[in-house]
Amino acid sequence: MRSWLPALLALGLAGHPPAVFAQEKAVVSMDGDSWLVPGRFPAGQSPDGNSIILKGPEGLVLVDTGRHVGHVGLISGAVFGLGAGWPVAIVNTHWHLDHVSGNSMLKHSWPQIKVYGTSAIDGALTGFLANSAANSRKALEAGEIPETAVADVKRDLATIARGKDLRPDVVVDEPLDVRLAGRPLSLRIARHAVTERDLWIYDSAAKRAIVGDLVTVPVPFLDTACPEGWLKALDDVAASGAEQIVPGHGPIMAIADFDRWRAAFGDFIACASGTGALETCSAGWLAGAARWIGADTERAKAMADYYGELVRSKKLDGYCKV
Ligand SMILES: [Zn+2]
Repeated sequence: MRSWLPALLALGLAGHPPAVFAQEKAVVSMDGDSWLVPGRFPAGQSPDGNSIILKGPEGLVLVDTGRHVGHVGLISGAVFGLGAGWPVAIVNTHWHLDHVSGNSMLKHSWPQIKVYGTSAIDGALTGFLANSAANSRKALEAGEIPETAVADVKRDLATIARGKDLRPDVVVDEPLDVRLAGRPLSLRIARHAVTERDLWIYDSAAKRAIVGDLVTVPVPFLDTACPEGWLKALDDVAASGAEQIVPGHGPIMAIADFDRWRAAFGDFIACASGTGALETCSAGWLAGAARWIGADTERAKAMADYYGELVRSKKLDGYCKV
């Protein structure tokens, strides 16, 4: 395996899969005052996470801002199209670039925006993101990046170079009940889950949990994860009273579907942490999450194989250290 291949697999850039969960709608209404801007993950590109727009009496709250200019354009277009006020806050669920890269463009358009997020970005800027930028530069120089991925890689390098722009204006490292745009929201914190510190939102009025990458399809993105902490965070989401889950990637889930996803995730982690054949773990994931994978089995299998190996390798143990 070439040195760059794992990262490409992690970004979903390898293989020859069909387009995945390409929702047709640019904006999906969840109820009268909440909308989803679905993140896309086309073959040969890196993904955008889902973004959510919440309307309050004093404006709009945006949750996560995507990676690509096109996705940020969809958020901005939705804001203008809804005619429901202007954004006053961004809540970032975690620092992965497919969730925070749009922050600065949106703040440029609406300078009153305050960004809420955890301090985990600080460690990422000197650790994972710094390493990943160094590897990307080497791979670019060596011509190892496929043509379709070069623009994405260069954009991510530029985003990392302006890393201080990714820092939140308001650091939320502990659970916090707030009113954003006049709308009450409970900001919950997961330690050592998808990243060192993730934020998820419980919206009690809607009985809805907006969970970022604690739930993703076509596979769980384990690159910077502590699997045990992630499982614990999913227990907390399950105990929250939510009847609806908004994942970081993929469609909105009723709680019964979340329970199915959580069971498949638990089985995958248990299998990959064991000693049996790793192909069994991937096959179990593909069966358990089939309803979300659809025709994208080739890419999902390649990514599940990669993440199964990552869990088995113990390389993720460092992300569990307090
Ligand atoms: Zn993501």
